[in-house]
Amino acid sequence: MENLAPNAVPDGVAMVSCPFCAEPIRAEARKCRYCGETVDVSMRKAEEALRASARPVYVRHAKSRGAAILIALFLGGIGGHKFYLGQAGLGILYLLFCWTFIPSIIALIELIIYACMSEDDFHAKYG
Ligand SMILES: [Zn+2]
Repeated sequence: MENLAPNAVPDGVAMVSCPFCAEPIRAEARKCRYCGETVDVSMRKAEEALRASARPVYVRHAKSRGAAILIALFLGGIGGHKFYLGQAGLGILYLLFCWTFIPSIIALIELIIYACMSEDDFHAKYG
């Protein structure tokens, strides 16, 4: 009996070598059991399309709203949150007037503003 399938094994299962890792896999295999790559061309294309559409748009923000709130809470009176948000000029002003406690009050108001702001608004304003 003649078997024309490539690399046929004695039990009659046609084997091919995986194009990704060269391990022998079944000819009808859709996924390689050694390296996990999808061997089936149409399935591979569908998977790639899915991956491309499902890729999350991850934006790295330099400043964290949570951190700004915490800093405003603990160091707001000396303008800590202003330095953190890249407004060093204002930070120095807070520092100079910290003895009046006015910066503390302003920091408290700003803390509430940060907390009420949406994440998007915060990053649009402070980066
Ligand atoms: Zn493989």
